[in-house]
Amino acid sequence: MKITSIETIHYRGGSALHFGPIQYLWVRIHTDEGLVGLGETYPHPEAEKAVIHESLAPMLIGRNPLEIDRLWADMLLAVSYSGWGGAEMRAISAIDIALWDLAGKVANLPIYQLLGGASRASIRIYNTCYDKVDFLTDSARLAEELLASGVRAMKIWPFDPIAKETHGQYITPDLMERGLDPIRRIRERVGTAMDVAMEFHGYWNLPSAISIARALEPYAPMWLEEMLPQDNLAAYRQLAASTHLPLCVSERLMTRWGFRELFANQAARFIMPDLCWCGGFSEARKIAAIAEMHYLPIAPHNCGGPVLHFASAHLAANATNLYVLETVRQHYLDEYTGLLTKSLLPQDGQLPIPNGPGLGVELNPEILGHEKATIQRTAS
Ligand SMILES: [Mg+2]
Repeated sequence: MKITSIETIHYRGGSALHFGPIQYLWVRIHTDEGLVGLGETYPHPEAEKAVIHESLAPMLIGRNPLEIDRLWADMLLAVSYSGWGGAEMRAISAIDIALWDLAGKVANLPIYQLLGGASRASIRIYNTCYDKVDFLTDSARLAEELLASGVRAMKIWPFDPIAKETHGQYITPDLMERGLDPIRRIRERVGTAMDVAMEFHGYWNLPSAISIARALEPYAPMWLEEMLPQDNLAAYRQLAASTHLPLCVSERLMTRWGFRELFANQAARFIMPDLCWCGGFSEARKIAAIAEMHYLPIAPHNCGGPVLHFASAHLAANATNLYVLETVRQHYLDEYTGLLTKSLLPQDGQLPIPNGPGLGVELNPEILGHEKATIQRTAS
């Protein structure tokens, strides 16, 4: 089997609850046997598709798509001179997901089976609260709604507006009370029935992060996510030493080498790779294995497009050291609608394991001709 062409579909759609207007970049790898593999990345499609068409497609076309490890290493080499840490690795991630989808179609097996089979009957999830119910003003109602649907963990980021006011450089007692208010109201309304992850998007300096972590201790959050930027992972060690709360790091790290220092300094207790960013299935499974070696669980980042949602479910189905999988009800109930041939919806707080072959889903054919879709193809 040979790769004959690589196609990108840049889709400008969705609402704008975060990152500005939502854009996805889908990749389709075509073969001489007629099978097509589907992948995805985000959130900067123009940069990612330039890497795919200019640097990756010319070295992939004519190659056997089943030699996934060889192709991954060769793709890394193809971009390594310019540095692989941004759009380059996001592009490789999209291609890698499409190669695993193709391999599953050839084997007539779902990707989770190729990874080693299912480790659970269904997948425990939490809800990331980009939502029509605002957690800043209605956190208790949001918690009640989620509990009623069977979802027993949620993620909020009430300190972000404060970080924007102070540039993350200081926090006063008044501002601290404002930041604590949403989780306090959740605890008052539903007690400990809801697990609450606190997200910080890397906005804070070290002393402010330490103060916030200590102030949150009485509320027993599930984790503290990305309190600091990710360029100096040694600082995370100081943060970890200052609080008994567990730290979660980081969706923004790429490849096993990107996570190396984090494992070495033992700062993080939850490891959060994103399949569309960290290097695809090929790299995420290795990061998960290294995490397991350190007795650490993974909590895959799944806050992107609809293909990532399916891909993350395959990884989460397989990983023996899964803690919980991220989901966003605003995405699966609204923004993903009509984009794929199937949806993947939770039932009583658990995500079902997708059926194959491959990812077990395709782009909705109508999307290919949609006015919001721009298609580019590189062929032999
Ligand atoms: Mg995050």
